[in-house]
Amino acid sequence: MSSFKELGLSSSMLTNLDRLGFAQPTGVQVKALPPALAGKDVIAMAQTGSGKTAAFGIPLIERLQPKRFAVQALVLCPTRELADQVAKALRELARAKENVKVLTLCGGVSIGPQIGSLSHGAHIIVGTPGRIDDHIRKGTLALDNVNTLVLDEADRMLDMGFEEVVASILAQTPSSRQTLLFSATWPAPIRTLSERFQVNPEDVRVEAQHAEGSISELFYEIAPNQQVEAIAALLSRYQPASSLIFCTTKRDCDDLTGQLQELGFAALSLHGDLDQKDRDGTLVKFANQSCTVLVATDVAARGLDIKALPLVINAEPARDPEVHTHRIGRTGRAGEQGHAVTLCTPRHGHKVSRLESIRGSAVEWGDTGDLMAEPLRLVRPAMKTLCLASGRKEKVRPGDVLGALTGDAGIPGTAVGKIDLFDFQCFVAVQAAWADRALARLESGKVKGRKIRVRFA
Ligand code: AMP
Repeated sequence: MSSFKELGLSSSMLTNLDRLGFAQPTGVQVKALPPALAGKDVIAMAQTGSGKTAAFGIPLIERLQPKRFAVQALVLCPTRELADQVAKALRELARAKENVKVLTLCGGVSIGPQIGSLSHGAHIIVGTPGRIDDHIRKGTLALDNVNTLVLDEADRMLDMGFEEVVASILAQTPSSRQTLLFSATWPAPIRTLSERFQVNPEDVRVEAQHAEGSISELFYEIAPNQQVEAIAALLSRYQPASSLIFCTTKRDCDDLTGQLQELGFAALSLHGDLDQKDRDGTLVKFANQSCTVLVATDVAARGLDIKALPLVINAEPARDPEVHTHRIGRTGRAGEQGHAVTLCTPRHGHKVSRLESIRGSAVEWGDTGDLMAEPLRLVRPAMKTLCLASGRKEKVRPGDVLGALTGDAGIPGTAVGKIDLFDFQCFVAVQAAWADRALARLESGKVKGRKIRVRFA
């Protein structure tokens, strides 16, 4: 099956896929769509970037009856970022049908407005298990009309201890439902989860989607006290506009971020202890290129939708080979060349040996002396982020902000980057050279006829 047409999709879906630029199904779509469209349960091993969202999104939307005002599909995700991303993708796919309402229900924001939105009706719910469970308990969410249930990044939901909450949510759905399970890794607990909740599922596995040779991977052996120096040397050498550094603990993330900042790098740390507001701010700054280095734990980095990172660094080897593969899969996407570097102290030797034995080949080691001789060259962020103390709830739209900047101010539209709107604030990226002028302009001007507080984020 090599085309969407042969899958028997509706003509409106085909037109929509065409509009989205999806010329051909990806590997996981080729394998998962036929059984999923036929209503069967599917267990699929697929990574972020493989096209997995459309692999469950297309069947779910094809099956949906917009005229029936009831929740017909439920997608459970481990994190709010992933849920937002999935909801966005589903809305795009749902343009094939009229008036499909997709609602996200995640923790970290107040529950009141969600209850309001639910009372207006929704066809598809995307959310995190904890908050969905809260709604069920409050009686604000009924799942007795759900015919498609998706567990996205199921391995991560298990890692985060959601198994029993997921079980109790599933118990609220009809047993005749279709259950689609997606997971990046394939450990035994995932098989158990599948056995618990699925009926004769179709197994779908696709190899990680890396074009051959697109990731160049190197290992360096360092002394424990050389970690920061080695990372600074790698950043100086590769000069990546964006890079992701993996640490094992939150504490390591914060320490390393602080040390890189002291050297002058635009580094930020991302881990589970950040509150939602700081997390949003960090993700925005990384995605809009006003922060160039993100230091993260595995869990926190999950669901990050950053395309083609030029450099991924493991500050130390990952806990196991599967996690390693997942980490380095964040670079070299979509045919672009990426670098993945792993730093190891002698104490980490066994982890590298395990990786080698699983791969059946030796890893390549770089020359540490040569790396350490690299002169320090900072990576200057291309953009700076302005934070406006007003957002969606005050009916601010991206066009209003863009207008306020480019209007009389003479700031060229090309100097304005990503605009990210949240309920009560808005972030706008501006090319570094124009940033001061943009700030002054917004401070003295008005957005939507009102004065708005602005600062550098
Ligand atoms: P995902 O793995 O679901 O996060 O998807 C990764 C990216 O691939 C998203 O930006 C999708 O919009 C895109 N995508 C999904 N399916 C296709 C396809 N058949 N052709 C082209 N792009 C696709």
